[in-house]
Amino acid sequence: MLIDGHGRKVNYLRVSVTERCNFRCLYCMPEKPFSWVPHENLLSYEDMFRFIKVGIDDGITKIRLTGGEPLLRHGLDGFVKMIHDYAPDIDLAITTNAFLLEDVAQKLKDAGLKRLNISLDSLKPEVAQQIAQKDVLAKVLRGIDKAQDIGLGIKINCVPLEGINDGEILDLLEHCKNKGYEIRFIEYMENSHANVKSGLNSQQIQNIIKEKYNITKGERVGSSPSQDYYLDDGYKFGIIEPHLDDFCRDCNRIRITAEGDLIPCLYFEDALSIADAIKAKDVKKASNILAEVLKNKPEKNKWGDENQSDRAFYETGG
Ligand code: SAM
Ligand code: SF4
Repeated sequence: MLIDGHGRKVNYLRVSVTERCNFRCLYCMPEKPFSWVPHENLLSYEDMFRFIKVGIDDGITKIRLTGGEPLLRHGLDGFVKMIHDYAPDIDLAITTNAFLLEDVAQKLKDAGLKRLNISLDSLKPEVAQQIAQKDVLAKVLRGIDKAQDIGLGIKINCVPLEGINDGEILDLLEHCKNKGYEIRFIEYMENSHANVKSGLNSQQIQNIIKEKYNITKGERVGSSPSQDYYLDDGYKFGIIEPHLDDFCRDCNRIRITAEGDLIPCLYFEDALSIADAIKAKDVKKASNILAEVLKNKPEKNKWGDENQSDRAFYETGG
């Protein structure tokens, strides 16, 4: 079992397979980064898998593949299959913008994938284009429909932004309710890479929904950063409330970047690389580095600290 320096059980690994992206969402990556990590610096799937096996053997039970945009990396279905075949019961999911999903959904499902978290910030083509800085909506919606048709579990992520998509909160909620999947509104987390004036906080999001519906706050479930809310008919939606809530107290996650940096916490500068150990097939050393990183996992995230890391979401693996 993996326990961090503050006694929290860590069983959730978020794996970034690339920092690259085919969108330029205003709240995440509005400009092309100054330089991408060269391909040769990325860990191969085989190397990543060697580390993932260390994690699973040590107690990881939940894995999310993310980025950047994970579907941009070729052969992702093969990577999913490696993980699924090693640990079929692992809770394995992908976070994606769904632009490339229509063509690969079936391959991912066949490889063992069960769930997807999909970013959908608007149902209006021009607003989706304004946020992603690309005409994306039709292809994204086709990708989501395809995934649902073949039986993949779907949750939608939406970041409400002032003056951009804040008029669509009810439409997005009702769209997801009618389609039969959960939506989670994420409070915009301010960062130096973004080009956004401000986002809506949880109370503002709730107030908009309350204009039409009664809502009831649910119990906090496990280590999820999402607070559940219910409409009177039982429909559940979530709000991820980093401005309101200290979801660090039962944080159960660590992250690994596409280059092999193990990051114990968002906006925390101190990461340790497992790249050399894992490329040398020294799994004992990789396991020791993992233990060291966990020992140093901070009690609270460094977001908002004056010395917070400037590492972007798309690099850390959002
Ligand atoms: N490209 C994939 C996607 O967009 O779903 C996966 C990576 S993206 C970094 C993961 C999640 O982070 C998305 O749901 C996105 O909305 C969220 N995100 C990115 N920047 C954010 C910010 N500044 N505040 C809140 N959420 C953010
Ligand atoms: Fe790309 Fe996802 Fe960031 Fe948007 S939120 S720019 S899709 S990594």
